[in-house]
Amino acid sequence: ITESEQAVLDEIEEKDVDFLRLQFTDILGTVKNVSVPARQAEKAFSDGIYFDGSSIEGFVRIQESDMRLVPDPDTFAILPWRQKEESAAARMICDVYNTSTGEPFEGDPRRVLKNALDRADEMGYEVNAAPEPEFFLFEEDEDGRATTNTGDQGGYFDLAPKDLASDVRRDIIYGLESMGFEIEASHHEVAQGQHEINFEYDDALTTADNVGTFRTVVRAIAAQHDQHATFMPKPIPRINGSGMHTHLSLFEDGENAFHDDDDEFNLSDTAHSFIAGILEHAPAITAIANPTVNSYKRLVPGYEAPVYVAWSDRNRSALIRKPAARVPAASRVELRSPDPSCNPYLAIAVMIHAGLDGIEQDLECPDPVRENIYEFDEQKREEYGIDTLPSNLGAAVDALEEDEAVYNALGDHIAPKFVEAKRQEFEEYLVDVSDWELDRYLETF
Ligand code: GLN
Ligand code: MG
Ligand code: MG
Ligand code: MG
Repeated sequence: ITESEQAVLDEIEEKDVDFLRLQFTDILGTVKNVSVPARQAEKAFSDGIYFDGSSIEGFVRIQESDMRLVPDPDTFAILPWRQKEESAAARMICDVYNTSTGEPFEGDPRRVLKNALDRADEMGYEVNAAPEPEFFLFEEDEDGRATTNTGDQGGYFDLAPKDLASDVRRDIIYGLESMGFEIEASHHEVAQGQHEINFEYDDALTTADNVGTFRTVVRAIAAQHDQHATFMPKPIPRINGSGMHTHLSLFEDGENAFHDDDDEFNLSDTAHSFIAGILEHAPAITAIANPTVNSYKRLVPGYEAPVYVAWSDRNRSALIRKPAARVPAASRVELRSPDPSCNPYLAIAVMIHAGLDGIEQDLECPDPVRENIYEFDEQKREEYGIDTLPSNLGAAVDALEEDEAVYNALGDHIAPKFVEAKRQEFEEYLVDVSDWELDRYLETF
């Protein structure tokens, strides 16, 4: 037993933890868990916990259904939303192993991210990441079902009393902090009922783990206030949707490899190539970072979400932005397309692979675009050589299939299953008849 495993066993003892939730995620990024009595922790560390993977989305075929979960002791955290009088419960995030081969399971999204980090490591890099997940808080109706009423008239950075949800947000922050999050800021977002809570950057794996935890905590604590928190990308038409801008940087020998004092944008050649790689693979990345039909209702001009494949050192209509950095160590690039419905492990993995691909191939980075691209017409976009992101899930999945580097980054297990699931989702959507159509046509024709 390792030192950090022993520390977990001690804490279980000390905090009187009764139950342990062993978590992992399916291909779609949904957090799954198996609950075991806390006294099984030691066995979980030494042997793993066996579970039937056949009923988990996209995991395995029925005939090869036994999986083994091995908890990562660094992810131990007490769940904050249990009442005082209840005994404590804790969670740990697990790696999934194949019982027949004993190898890490290829269908585990956490493994896919670890593979991306291994590639970075071989090239001499450590990867840091920070997401900015946005979400809406909606009222529940009498039956406890989510509505799209916000009961809130607040706007960007507004203060109470307009911002009725600030109490909820405060409790969410306490919950996150008790689980080890370092909260940097929280504010009311542009849209009514929309919020953002920023937590500190970390290594890419911890950050992906944190996104799953973040979504769970936000929803659980909102529910305690009879509010429904949603990470759906565009719950209300014609106002801003919810993004999950993702900041990335590479470190080499403890130094920020993206920083260069002498460059006009303070970006190194490495950073320029990394940006070029992401721009090159942007359409395929979209399928992973924007994996729902609804994601594409957000990626339209005029709502601070990206549509055009370009980068900028100032404006927010571009896909990639270079945020101002206070110190060299903070030099980073911000990808603005991801939304919080994505699987964070897969999304961060494909961004890293795309960027590393740019470095490996020494791709040429185009000039930044400093004007508001939303205002460009097609001719001007052509002149600047600016492509557009896929405009719907079907087109994004096509782009994913055509992009070998991104497709292969998902591994043999997840790539085909992801494509199949998303094609089916898009086809179901295509044959459906929406309220918009009924409003528009039912009485006209
Ligand atoms: N909500 C916007 C988006 O969809 C971002 C707004 C912001 O953070 N400035 O990406
Ligand atoms: Mg922000
Ligand atoms: Mg924001
Ligand atoms: Mg941002």
